[in-house]
Amino acid sequence: MNGVEEEGDGGGDQANMRILITGGAGFIGSHLVDRLMRNEKNEVIVVDNYFTGSKDNLKQWIGHPRFELIRHDVTEPLFLEVDQIYHLACPASPIFYKHNPVKTIKTNVMGTLNMLGLAKRVGARILLTSTSEVYGDPLEHPQTESYWGNVNPIGVRSCYDEGKRVAETLMFDYHRQHGIEIRIARIFNTYGPRMNIDDGRVVSNFIAQAIREEPLTVQLPGTQTRSFCYVSDMVDGLVRLMDGEHTGPINIGNPGEFTMLELAETVKEVKILTVENTPDDPRQRKPDISKANELLGWEPKIKLRDGVPFMEEDFRQRLCVPKKA
Ligand code: NAD
Ligand code: UDP
Ligand code: UDP
Repeated sequence: MNGVEEEGDGGGDQANMRILITGGAGFIGSHLVDRLMRNEKNEVIVVDNYFTGSKDNLKQWIGHPRFELIRHDVTEPLFLEVDQIYHLACPASPIFYKHNPVKTIKTNVMGTLNMLGLAKRVGARILLTSTSEVYGDPLEHPQTESYWGNVNPIGVRSCYDEGKRVAETLMFDYHRQHGIEIRIARIFNTYGPRMNIDDGRVVSNFIAQAIREEPLTVQLPGTQTRSFCYVSDMVDGLVRLMDGEHTGPINIGNPGEFTMLELAETVKEVKILTVENTPDDPRQRKPDISKANELLGWEPKIKLRDGVPFMEEDFRQRLCVPKKA
């Protein structure tokens, strides 16, 4: 039980939709697969290079007649016949996207170009999972979609945030120049079961540290904020955006805002260890979700306090550490 199964109808109203999910072996992608597979009219194809994703996230679908999994790197051309493309392929955690920054920007630019070329050839609708990182270290708070952002073009995060900004530009240029049907979601920090245990993002770090009875590593100053959305709410927003009438960009995230010190207290009352931060870390982040609310009828349902225990249960199972009686 992780809250995902209860939401929505599986998306895709039309008959016999063939849906491609790039990055579908990853955290959000695999939950999106679960959701879309619930509609018996959908055929789902995942392409993934397994850089940060895993076949394990899709094990319940391997061998299913309406499901196909292809090892493929989106920086290479891809020829398939599909009706919709959810384009998620891209490492999302700072430690992974900084690991090989040139590959990250290639994934964002060449990967998105290839998926747009595919969408153009077959007339598919394409949704890009962009990010709140396009707002950089924002000078407007909360962030609305009309804010253009405050991004360092040459910093260590630029491969990701500038990469996603170019990806958004490509989406709009293909839309204007070639009439491609596009959707852009600007995703804010998302958490839930199946996140990589050691992927370095804050919620997964704190939960794994609490289970291992290690101190929680709060990066300085600890007063920086983020807004955390549970994965079932995120998937619901993405499907509504894809199946709705609006191109976006639309913010999808939970406006509940926490400092990292507050988050540490939500996870568990254990020792906190303050550690050095990384360059260009945004000081605050909170989505304005009026557009998602008005245009998609969407708002998140799961509060941080209710979502964290689902994730803790999943991490305990994977780490083989039962809850103490
Ligand atoms: P994830 O790392 O779990 O998933 C990304 C998937 O893409 C992985 O399965 C990975 O193997 C695959 N991938 C990476 N590069 C690839 C390539 N070149 N070719 C094919 N596959 C490739 O991350 P996630 O959290 O599920 O994020 C999914 C999407 O959502 C990403 O586009 C990310 O930028 C966006 N996003 C996520 C968050 C978040 O908080 N999780 C926030 C903002 C945006
Ligand atoms: N592309 C792809 N699959 C397709 C069609 C195109 O991967 O089904 C790639 C193609 O290799 C190219 C990119 O998408 O690199 C952009 O294609 P487009 O037709 O827009 O541009 P062109 O090929 O004219 O440069
Ligand atoms: N962070 C932290 N401890 C950790 C990992 C991250 O305090 O072990 C902080 C980090 O400094 C940032 C916030 O948590 O301010 C969110 O970081 P994350 O890498 O999860 O995502 P980001 O929003 O930066 O992409």
